[in-house]
Amino acid sequence: MAYDPKSLKAEDFINHEEILETLEYAEKNKHNRELIEQILEKAAPKKTKRGVECAGLSHREASVLLACDIPELTEKMYALAREIKEAFYGNRIVMFAPLYLSNYCVNKCVYCPYHYQNKEIPRKKLTQEEVKQEVIALQDMGHKRLAIESGEDPVNNPIEYILDCIKTIYSVQHKNGAIRRVNVNIAATTVENYRKLKEAGIGTYILFQETYHKESYERLHPAGPKHNYAYHTEAMDRAMEGGIDDVGLGVLFGLELYRYEFAGILMHAEHLEAVHGVGPHTISVPRIKRASDIDPSVFDNGIDDDTFAKIIACIRIAVPYTGMIISTRESEACRAKVMGLGISQISGGSRTSVGGYAGYTAEERPHDTEQFDVSDQRSLDEVVRWLMEKGYIPSFCTACYREGRTGDRFMALCKVGQIQNCCHPNALMTLQEFLTDYASPETKKIGEELIAREILNVPDEKRRQRAIEYLDEIKTQGKRDFRF
Ligand code: SAM
Repeated sequence: MAYDPKSLKAEDFINHEEILETLEYAEKNKHNRELIEQILEKAAPKKTKRGVECAGLSHREASVLLACDIPELTEKMYALAREIKEAFYGNRIVMFAPLYLSNYCVNKCVYCPYHYQNKEIPRKKLTQEEVKQEVIALQDMGHKRLAIESGEDPVNNPIEYILDCIKTIYSVQHKNGAIRRVNVNIAATTVENYRKLKEAGIGTYILFQETYHKESYERLHPAGPKHNYAYHTEAMDRAMEGGIDDVGLGVLFGLELYRYEFAGILMHAEHLEAVHGVGPHTISVPRIKRASDIDPSVFDNGIDDDTFAKIIACIRIAVPYTGMIISTRESEACRAKVMGLGISQISGGSRTSVGGYAGYTAEERPHDTEQFDVSDQRSLDEVVRWLMEKGYIPSFCTACYREGRTGDRFMALCKVGQIQNCCHPNALMTLQEFLTDYASPETKKIGEELIAREILNVPDEKRRQRAIEYLDEIKTQGKRDFRF
């Protein structure tokens, strides 16, 4: 078997030998300053006629950066990651929350508390009425974008159940609330089911590979449909065939050697680009957490915070246009450390239990059906305030997907430099909605000062004027949902 990014066979595009050779090449060159400088130069943003563009890096080049342990070059990588992040995402951070629908599962993933042999965890599946109550609670916090999560169980959670839930979520409008984008994180499925999800109006289809190492994958998923490595690894191709053009990749760090996973995820991105002409819309970087019946210390590939930060910076450099997501698995301190290095989306006020939002105050959290311990337990209001105090703009924008700017059309927007005229005012207008409808007085004060400053950074004068009018209409006339 030879490495072939254009092949539709998992073992060709995630080719084990190619990864081993890449790791060997990276190890050999990890102190090769000249090569590392050349790689950094290749990845740097360049001004072109079309706007600012970045070349990205191959999995081999990026693996050399990750292996390099020369402190001053690591600092250069961090500076470059910040520059790329700034060029395409500015200081905006998109906010979302997970919504757990069901923890029934027929798989036996050894790291996940939902595995079917876990008798400690009560099994629960939300009714449509409960979905509605969860959505009201999420809207009342200020969320506009959700990621729905579910175990895999064709009897308890068939695709029809997931579709019903999506319909319910989009139908709920409580006060000024609305969920405007539903991303979906459910098990690998068929082209036909992906088509149904597309028709239901989903945003991104997210599926974590967990590990790209086939042998480990099979050992870590000893039973259930998820055991099939090829079916799981080729899922994004089926999703794209079904018409979903925003797909989100991820690996669960801690299961396998991180350098192996890093090369694997970049090869997966190269494969999507080679076959479908568009790379991953997002990349997530979850790390294993303690959970019911799960002790993370039995997985001996855990990574420390510095390695984690370096992985994030190197992904940002290698795949410059992708969104990068970090969840509340990570602590406030860790999130603060990696935010500037390339993260563009974070969750806030999250509950990982089935039915964890409705009927609980910001301080209370049910633990019985929780998927994993949440490290960052602050409320959405606190996270939003914290981001603003750090100089970021929390954004509740969902405009691209609703304007049909998905797949390569979204990537094109990134490349032609229209982001500052589009995403920047959209972020500020959705932040203003949050401040007016949901924020505490302190958050509101900081936010309105920030908006007054940041609106001046919209380059196009006409656009800027229009955005200022819209902001005023949100505040004084109760209007909502403006977007460019
Ligand atoms: N059931 C779906 C599947 O199999 O892909 C996805 C839903 S699952 C709720 C979402 C993700 O949680 C998994 O893909 C896995 O990476 C992550 N996860 C599972 N156990 C975890 C743990 N103990 N700590 C952190 N993340 C975990």
